[in-house]
Amino acid sequence: MKVSTSPWQSARLQLESSAARVHLDPLLLARLASPDRIVEVSVPTVMDDGSVRVFSGYRVQHNNILGPYKGGLRYHSRVDTDEVKALSFWMTMKNAVMDLPFGGAKGGIAVDPKTLSSGELERLTREFTRKLAPLIGPSVDVPAPDVNTNPRIMSWIVDEWARASGRKESAVVTGKAIEDGGSEGRTEATGYGGAHVLLEILKRMNLAKAGMTVAIQGFGNVGSYLARALVEAGLSVVAIADSKGGVFVSGGIPDIDALQKCKESNGLLAGCYCVGSVFDALNQGVLHVRGITSEEVLELPVDIIVPAALENAITEENMSRIKARIVLEMANGPTAFNADAFLASKGVTIIPDILANAGGVTASYFEWQQNISGERWTKDAVLSLLKERMEGAAARVFEASTKHGLSLREAAFTLALERLQKGLAP
Ligand code: NAD
Repeated sequence: MKVSTSPWQSARLQLESSAARVHLDPLLLARLASPDRIVEVSVPTVMDDGSVRVFSGYRVQHNNILGPYKGGLRYHSRVDTDEVKALSFWMTMKNAVMDLPFGGAKGGIAVDPKTLSSGELERLTREFTRKLAPLIGPSVDVPAPDVNTNPRIMSWIVDEWARASGRKESAVVTGKAIEDGGSEGRTEATGYGGAHVLLEILKRMNLAKAGMTVAIQGFGNVGSYLARALVEAGLSVVAIADSKGGVFVSGGIPDIDALQKCKESNGLLAGCYCVGSVFDALNQGVLHVRGITSEEVLELPVDIIVPAALENAITEENMSRIKARIVLEMANGPTAFNADAFLASKGVTIIPDILANAGGVTASYFEWQQNISGERWTKDAVLSLLKERMEGAAARVFEASTKHGLSLREAAFTLALERLQKGLAP
């Protein structure tokens, strides 16, 4: 089997190739090539049966050239220093390309949270917060949700950080529950933001969106809201898979909400295709429906594929089986460096993660602004500002790409590096 680059290797290769192209200032290159701070903490947690398990927690503060460190916390068994470093680098680039006043960071705990009870999850999160407390704060480092973390976990962090620091400030994290200072629209923002970016790029490529077929890998926060937004915009979402498999419906999945309900009650998507209430049309013999694997979803003959799960979904192992002409990267780092070059050489348009999935951190910025100013914005206000920001950024990246003959990823990196260079200037 071909070995793909690790997330941090891919991140470094992306940085080095962009730095060479734009003749990057050696000081900025040095600042970006290694994170400012890498923290690993031990998180001993009392289990429900009274035993103690010790988990490893991480926070990587990549840099704060443009503002406080900012980036999510992930709870997943695959979390390690290499992954968190890469994710923190991509946060730096994302915030720069979106013109947000934040630096980049990321963190997480190596744990499968599905094996923990709610009490164990809360004790784990509170202990992790106590360990990170001296390093985070509204003007220092602002975490947020990522894979397997959610508003409830963010609210525990606010509460525990207040005890540890003696300061009750909800702006210490974003992505909180609304009643704890969260923003309307934050939950939907990453998925909706990806849809705005895709539609803007399709428009500029002169491609008609109506009826374009889409396959999505990952049906969590990001994948589910993206699917809804794309169906609403007139595209045909024909396949969705989560970590245990999924469903392909040749005529388009008729009801994303029903699919979500089925996943919530079953715990997984696999098998949802045979639930009558989800696919009544199937029962009428109208649609061709079949179960698919998590990997197969990216290899279907569709117009657009959307990796919306984890890194390295597209590697040297599967790149030659990709049939789509557009890849919308909603996950962070879903395309390994060599696979990216291969697909580009085949004429595939890759809409890069640092643009496509930036809706989450953009809405997080709105939440942080509201917390600091004591304001409350309506959902309409948040979502319309989000649309404006995402379309604006997509337009800037597309224009830079056509003007300089660059791929969209190269263009996004170029814009981000220009902004960081300005931020570094004395
Ligand atoms: P989530 O935990 O809500 O959902 C993750 C989904 O991916 C689940 O449906 C899971 O079953 C699925 N999955 C995991 N491994 C898979 C595999 N091998 N094949 C198919 N599906 C698999 O997480 P999320 O918040 O939706 O995040 C998804 C991705 O988007 C991550 O890469 C994350 O870093 C990125 N992202 C999230 C946000 C955000 O606001 N939540 C913002 C920017 C980027």
